[in-house]
Amino acid sequence: MPEETISTVTISSEPSARSSTTANNQQPQPQSERKPLNLGPLTEIHAFWIAGMSCDGCSIAAVGATNPSVESLLLGIVPGMPKLILHHPVLAVEAGDAFVHPFYLAEEGKLDAPYVLILEGSIPDERIAAKTGGYWSACGVEVREDGTHRPIPSAEWVKRLAPGAAAVIAIGTCATWGGVPAAAGNATGAMGLMDFLGRDYRSAFGLPVINIPGCSPVGDNFTETVAAILLFLQGLGPLPEFDELGRPAWLFRETVHTHCVRAGFYEEGTFAENYGDKECLVEVGCWGPVVQCNITSRGAINHMGGCMNTGGICIGCTMPGFPDRFAPFYKRPPGSLLSTNTSRLTGALIRRLRRTTLAFQNRETRWDREGNVPSGWGAVQEPSKLKAAMHFLYEKMQARGTRAKIGSKSSNN
Ligand code: SF4
Ligand code: SF4
Repeated sequence: MPEETISTVTISSEPSARSSTTANNQQPQPQSERKPLNLGPLTEIHAFWIAGMSCDGCSIAAVGATNPSVESLLLGIVPGMPKLILHHPVLAVEAGDAFVHPFYLAEEGKLDAPYVLILEGSIPDERIAAKTGGYWSACGVEVREDGTHRPIPSAEWVKRLAPGAAAVIAIGTCATWGGVPAAAGNATGAMGLMDFLGRDYRSAFGLPVINIPGCSPVGDNFTETVAAILLFLQGLGPLPEFDELGRPAWLFRETVHTHCVRAGFYEEGTFAENYGDKECLVEVGCWGPVVQCNITSRGAINHMGGCMNTGGICIGCTMPGFPDRFAPFYKRPPGSLLSTNTSRLTGALIRRLRRTTLAFQNRETRWDREGNVPSGWGAVQEPSKLKAAMHFLYEKMQARGTRAKIGSKSSNN
């Protein structure tokens, strides 16, 4: 993304007015009237984790984060940061009414501390399921007047809790952009949180939806963003910079290709023909040059792993167009024809020139003067007269404008 398109969110210290605009025309916009937040300095903050149409992969990614770890956030041992009280449907020790009770307190504005809302998975259109008396995803039950039980849809919890949340965070591509559950042919009307809440949504602290995409996301991307937001809510840090789609700009500004461990192969025009080859994977289906993701530099967990680091192609899982715009997977992106053939042409020449320079950089200057390499490991070929002459000129250019005499006897001693 061009840097000039990145915008910084402006916030208000007052809770925003609730809007009734329906951006998606599918489900009603949440409306709620709440008291202003009692913010900072905080000792505790609640985090309500709601699961929509998800595989729980985002939860797995988050608990694998190391910098900071979920444990350190829960223990409140990060200096300056409030202790996080996590209400997670899978990780919670409580079950049943004891688990759901704090959700009601949050809805009624009776919690002892502010809260953030985290959504994993996309939000289905529950009206479709309701036609047949069912539901797509839910958490907790309510007792109807006739004594029967009604599961409370995740979408309803989002409507209830989003207006009063200090911040609302969508984790993973299903929650951010709809992801796999919203792919072509889906029957659920699934959508991302931003689509569900609409353009005018602001949290109680004036923030639009914060999006941390990835399928699954890099766990550190999530915990680092949460930590930055908590420091901001504490008044100890600035509001982190988000791009125009609500992504943490410092994590998603550049393409995955920019930091790819195979980008040098691309530049020199050498490409993998098969999975398992060490070269650039674009001709076997990698979309990295047009995908904003930091996994090659950050790693999947603890700075280890990550798609191209471990031999996988990029299928664009962080992008709003995923999966439909990247399908069929494992097929060469058509746009790569021009770029790879250009790289082949220029890269072949550049590669040869670099190999020549490399051969000289692999020699002590003493070996040049003595005319042989005293290695017992094998015979090292002496450079041809043409290459020696080319490199002589190269070193002249290198030293031009300085007093250095590269390769001279004095510089070697
Ligand atoms: S493997 Fe993909 S991301 Fe890496 S250099 Fe090749 S095209 Fe770029
Ligand atoms: S490199 Fe591509 S497939 Fe891998 S995590 Fe990033 S966006 Fe997803």
